[in-house]
Amino acid sequence: MSDRLPPAASTVIVGGGITGTAAAFFLADRGERDVVLLEQGALGSGTTKGGMGGIRHQFTDELDVRLSLMATEFWREFPSFTGSGHEFHERGYLFIAETAEGLAQLKGPLPLYERLGVPVEMLDRQDIEDLVPGIRTDDLAGGRFCGRDGYGDPLVALAGFAAAAVLEGVRVFEGTAVSGLVREGDRVTGVRTAGGDISAERVLLASGVWTAPVAATAGVGVPIWPYRRSIMESGPVPGLAAIPMTIEWESGFHFRPRDGRQRFAMPNLTSDGRAEKGPGAAPDSFDALAYPPLEVPASLEPWVKARAAWRHSALRELDIASRWSCYYEMTPDDHPIVGRVPGVDGLYIAAGFSGHGFMHTPATAQLVVEEMLDGKATTLDISDLSLERFRTGRRPFTATVL
Ligand SMILES: Cc1cc2nc3c(=O)[nH]c(=O)nc-3n(C[C@H](O)[C@H](O)[C@H](O)COP(=O)(O)OP(=O)(O)OC[C@H]3O[C@@H](n4cnc5c(N)ncnc54)[C@H](O)[C@@H]3O)c2cc1C
Repeated sequence: MSDRLPPAASTVIVGGGITGTAAAFFLADRGERDVVLLEQGALGSGTTKGGMGGIRHQFTDELDVRLSLMATEFWREFPSFTGSGHEFHERGYLFIAETAEGLAQLKGPLPLYERLGVPVEMLDRQDIEDLVPGIRTDDLAGGRFCGRDGYGDPLVALAGFAAAAVLEGVRVFEGTAVSGLVREGDRVTGVRTAGGDISAERVLLASGVWTAPVAATAGVGVPIWPYRRSIMESGPVPGLAAIPMTIEWESGFHFRPRDGRQRFAMPNLTSDGRAEKGPGAAPDSFDALAYPPLEVPASLEPWVKARAAWRHSALRELDIASRWSCYYEMTPDDHPIVGRVPGVDGLYIAAGFSGHGFMHTPATAQLVVEEMLDGKATTLDISDLSLERFRTGRRPFTATVL
């Protein structure tokens, strides 16, 4: 990594998570020179290090599905684009529903998938057992499956993007926090750091859950806030090494293999023990956000063990080997903010992915680079993801936060 900050750059990227490193890669790939990436900690040390690594097409909003289609094409060819491996396992996402109501919700978007050419099928109990041998199905009404979904390793992918970007001349500075943006009239002209200012034609905020305070220094309000979620990983579990990502639709509990172990994601629990599948309402103000401590609540492990034991006999004697929490980077409509900031030339945002940013990265990073270099994203129309929508009231999105 580089050691002396340059006084000027063509583009400064703030944040070295999967989004920032992928944007660096796409800028370099387009031949952009003098690109600088600033990361306050170590690359990947934000939300990216904590993710489940899931990659799915099974959304309910057309734009999400289109982003997935674009991204998955890239994930499949990741080694040829970046020169690095990425561990994309196309083993599918299996949603299972316990209730007739849940099953009806799973069936709802089938016409959308059919129209967009995404192969999704409804499953009966036997189909589910064929995909996940030994799974309990006597309490299930059915399931939904897409074999083109799967999972990867966010940090391995990040390393691939970063290495390719650095080889193409991008300069990366870890341990370098941006303390503020430099704004002159209607334009952002650079960033402030403890090591000096860097002037830039363009600044991209890929700063995840920390974006609101940075943007505020240029007078730009960004509604992204932190919502803590946790992951647990078991010791080795024989026999389940190649199953799909398996998701209980009603509870939100899900699991998938990783190197012979099982990785579990779960809802948060309220103080009275209820499962909170997704975050509630956005905070009233984004001026002084509270970042909840990242320790894993003690109540979660017994809940996970009970849920896992109920769902699969091989998970009955579960040994939880590691556990961690990270922040979902939530917006009020559970969708990211991607693109130029209207009314402030030179400033761009790609942040607020609301718990599904890893899977869409190859699409969102390429599209924000198109906004930066071409004035507008053209591969896909992403005007609905503009920051502007919170002011003008664009169409509401429908989201499924897992
Ligand atoms: C428990 C959990 C499970 C998840 N599961 C999935 C999943 O299955 N599939 C999926 O697609 N997504 C999942 N996600 C979401 C996904 O991990 C995130 O959407 C994605 O990693 C966001 O990446 P990012 O680069 O935008 O943000 P981050 O990884 O947070 O990167 C932002 C970076 O900016 C840096 N930064 C911030 N402010 C500054 C500053 N002022 N100066 C310099 N640097 C700064 C931070 O240090 C950080 O490294 C999950 C998230 C969690 C928490």
